[in-house]
Amino acid sequence: MSILSKEEAEFSSAVEVAVIGAGACGLCAGIAAKQSGAETLILERDPSALGTTAMSTGLIPAAGTSFQAKAGITDTPELFTEDVCAKTGYQTNADIALALARESANTVEWLASELQVPLSLVDSFLYPGHSIKRMHGTPNRTGAELMGSLCNAAEKIGVDILTDATVIGLFAEPSGEVHGLRCQRPDGKHEDLACSAIILACCGFAGNPDMVREYMPEIAEGEFFGHRGNQGDAVAWGRALGAEVGDMSAYQGHGGLAKGYGIPILWPVIVEGGIQVNQKGQRFSNESRGYSEQAVDVITQPGAIAWTFYDDPRHQLMLEFDDYRDAIAAGAIQYGTTLQDVCQKTGLPLSEMEKTLEEIASLVGTDKQDAFGRQFKGKALLNAPYYAVKVTGALFHTQGGLCVDAVGRVLRADGSALQGLYAGGGAARGISGPDASGYLAGNGLLTATTFGRLAGINAAIDINER
Ligand SMILES: Cc1cc2nc3c(=O)[nH]c(=O)nc-3n(C[C@H](O)[C@H](O)[C@H](O)COP(=O)(O)OP(=O)(O)OC[C@H]3O[C@@H](n4cnc5c(N)ncnc54)[C@H](O)[C@@H]3O)c2cc1C
Repeated sequence: MSILSKEEAEFSSAVEVAVIGAGACGLCAGIAAKQSGAETLILERDPSALGTTAMSTGLIPAAGTSFQAKAGITDTPELFTEDVCAKTGYQTNADIALALARESANTVEWLASELQVPLSLVDSFLYPGHSIKRMHGTPNRTGAELMGSLCNAAEKIGVDILTDATVIGLFAEPSGEVHGLRCQRPDGKHEDLACSAIILACCGFAGNPDMVREYMPEIAEGEFFGHRGNQGDAVAWGRALGAEVGDMSAYQGHGGLAKGYGIPILWPVIVEGGIQVNQKGQRFSNESRGYSEQAVDVITQPGAIAWTFYDDPRHQLMLEFDDYRDAIAAGAIQYGTTLQDVCQKTGLPLSEMEKTLEEIASLVGTDKQDAFGRQFKGKALLNAPYYAVKVTGALFHTQGGLCVDAVGRVLRADGSALQGLYAGGGAARGISGPDASGYLAGNGLLTATTFGRLAGINAAIDINER
């Protein structure tokens, strides 16, 4: 991933704004730039526009939306910001978090009304760390549906996506000012594109094992369940141009990837009172803190696995999610009419499981905490029939990256912006603090959609003003 001098370029075409990467960030950026009057092209290395986004649950958090108002929920950007900052132990940039929270409702309304993304409020449960229901998702709660709607919107608005186009270099001045990019096509040929602004929407470096080992060694042995195309290109280019990076050890992990099936068993099952035990039938953590930090807790158990264990009411709740229905169809979920039955099917030791469930029963309905600091107050007892699924810990995507301002301009260490260079989504430093525990559910798509939209608008404005 190189920085090339303008003299080396053989520009065969030109646009005003070039967007690298066609996930949620790239699509939002490209559409917003075009709506703001700039000729725009999105370049994507894969044969189709999918990215991490299409693998995701597609839930986008926002504060103060019409969807929340209809459900009688009062939310504010300030409350949202407090939740974001608290999850990081106040180790993120609160100004950036507030700026994103303030724009989050505008993004969701724009997606729903202008881009026709069929969003609704997820009102069946609260994700850990969110003090109010503010997740918005597509009918089957999938990122694939989100990407489908964004691609349709791009086509209608007239934003082209050039697929099979891996960007391998940026043409830029040593000062950072960008002039264009070079992409490589599947036949090995290069094409040079001139542009006045570049939006880096090519996510982070979770698909680059060397970088993962360097910055987040604790998850390097976990399963990678993200997008292979995320190789850290944005960080490499930004650094070469003098940009600052931040929170490089931050990431979204997940402690519930169905082992051998590659299907995430989402956290509502835990939040609503389900548990995780190791192969000995023993709990080992406060699972309800969050799914991201749970990844390392799971991979440090014997065999690097755990069992997510729950009962019928929590099973019913999970049927809302396409991923869960896929897990059932794939045979990942074990079912037992009695504890003995489910223990036989899973190999979990009956006597230890009896002890584990007795302990939880003694906590339900009380203010008491278990040894890991978890309370079960307000949760229904776990009762037969039971369900269990073998899971492992996984890395989904990275959250550290290029430092940006509130509209996605890439910054140097002194706070000055590189002319014409923007970043958003996984390419930019997120709002998750320095490690996995700071990831509040939704931080990924909040920064992808809102930074994407703002970077697109501002890139178009900047070009007009130059
Ligand atoms: C299983 C799972 C569930 C998740 N659920 C949620 C959720 O419900 N809510 C939430 O907020 N977040 C969720 N996330 C995280 C979320 O998916 C990501 O934060 C978000 O999709 C990142 O968007 P992006 O546009 O930055 O990157 P991506 O969607 O990864 O798009 C980047 C694109 O850039 C392309 N690219 C990379 N390098 C180049 C190059 N050199 N040239 C051209 N193209 C390039 C890649 O091929 C890719 O298509 C989830 C993640 C996973 C894995």
